[in-house]
Amino acid sequence: MEKWDGNAGTPSAFAVPDWMQIQFADQKQEFNKRPTKIGRRSLSRSISQSSTDSYSSAASYTDSSDDETSPRDKQQKNSKGSSDFCVKNIKQAEFGRREIEIAEQEMPALMALRKRAQGEKPLAGAKIVGCTHITAQTAVLMETLSALGAQCRWAACNIYSTLNEVAAALAESGFPVFAWKGESEDDFWWCIDRCVNVEGWQPNMILDDGGDLTHWIYKKYPNMFKKIKGIVEESVTGVHRLYQLSKAGKLCVPAMNVNDSVTKQKFDNLYCCRESILDGLKRTTDMMFGGKQVVVCGYGEVGKGCCAALKAMGSIVYVTEIDPICALQACMDGFRLVKLNEVIRQVDIVITCTGNKNVVTREHLDRMKNSCIVCNMGHSNTEIDVASLRTPELTWERVRSQVDHVIWPDGKRIVLLAEGRLLNLSCSTVPTFVLSITATTQALALIELYNAPEGRYKQDVYLLPKKMDEYVASLHLPTFDAHLTELTDEQAKYLGLNKNGPFKPNYYRY
Ligand code: NAD
Repeated sequence: MEKWDGNAGTPSAFAVPDWMQIQFADQKQEFNKRPTKIGRRSLSRSISQSSTDSYSSAASYTDSSDDETSPRDKQQKNSKGSSDFCVKNIKQAEFGRREIEIAEQEMPALMALRKRAQGEKPLAGAKIVGCTHITAQTAVLMETLSALGAQCRWAACNIYSTLNEVAAALAESGFPVFAWKGESEDDFWWCIDRCVNVEGWQPNMILDDGGDLTHWIYKKYPNMFKKIKGIVEESVTGVHRLYQLSKAGKLCVPAMNVNDSVTKQKFDNLYCCRESILDGLKRTTDMMFGGKQVVVCGYGEVGKGCCAALKAMGSIVYVTEIDPICALQACMDGFRLVKLNEVIRQVDIVITCTGNKNVVTREHLDRMKNSCIVCNMGHSNTEIDVASLRTPELTWERVRSQVDHVIWPDGKRIVLLAEGRLLNLSCSTVPTFVLSITATTQALALIELYNAPEGRYKQDVYLLPKKMDEYVASLHLPTFDAHLTELTDEQAKYLGLNKNGPFKPNYYRY
């Protein structure tokens, strides 16, 4: 298989195992129930960023009366007598279990995988060390990996994002979990080390989000790579680091880049933002969207999602773009393409989604009308030139968590959300279904790397084979009682396709 080629190899070079074959007939509609609570996003960030970024956590049962003793100084045992874990408070396990059960309802693919692989156990013998956000959704993934035969040890990839109750529930179920909300930098590395440095246990697979775990093993225990069959990496930053290692000839095992899987990208960027833009705006401002004038900067995946949501709510939406193709798409979708200057005086909301910098400048901010809401959905917190607002003549007033009023000398105020950082990640939660896609992709990547015959993957970075990407999508279809059409033999021949996929070439733009 070539690197970067999800479709590579002949169709026969990669065969979806029997238990993975798409069977719609036996897929019952048991995951149709909609939970009332949604979960937290599995973020993709860099070591320092991922481990220190503050994180909005929704429901938490950890109240302020929790004692402040460091979990490292506590002696805790689960009900079976095991103390091979370190969490904030094992007594919170029951609350965590409820969170996990709620998440299971919106993670149909993982639940289906559990059911289907029961007999076969494609991860039997796998010893997975993981470093991801520890949330209810991660717990569903870990319990799925365990049901597929793997042993897991887990640490958090972010010092703020651990849901203590969920970590407790996992520890109570026998998972060696080392994580709590509010770890220090030292705790962070200590937890990772406790996952890896165990007597009588050595990992043979890595699941990482941000590359910190991989980095730690490279630094401290390079010999472990002799037994490691592969790395599955979730984040942009982690993937970038893997490519750097690969380029330097230092990557000593195959690695799977799940960040760039089609399903994951679409769900993270387009569909997730379509849902969470309204959530983030509502939670911070309680505003009504109908009739409001909104300008969305950037009509890529994220911008398209934001525009669609706002249009559906009755907002009047303007778009700015630099790329004529995306600009034409915006026109075709019924949006007015403008320059920011042309509408800045009249709009009620400004949203940036470009991944660029200084898209909204101080000059724009000066010209906005009173009460204009300004927020960012792109990666960088420099899309809005927030720094330019920190001048003596402007007064900042914190009116709510994540909401600042910036007041001009004449009394005009703008409403700045999350100080220009990603609105949805700072002020709302992300649908569990989005995380289900990511978690399923991770599970399949682990299965693929663990079971791949010698030589299929070299010491390089790979995309998940497209057929598996398609499989991830197919596992989510029964939730919607969706009925996929099968190619006839004649049609398959006509299109030159295998009836079971992959259905598109790698260059296809979905
Ligand atoms: P994209 O490349 O598909 O879209 C960005 C668009 O912005 C492009 O079409 C580009 O032409 C346009 N653009 C660039 N500079 C511009 C400018 N000065 N004015 C107007 N338009 C400009 O990328 P995407 O997938 O839509 O992601 C956009 C950003 O959102 C990235 O930073 C990405 O990391 C981030 N992102 C956020 C979330 C989230 O949950 N909030 C999810 C995924 C990605």
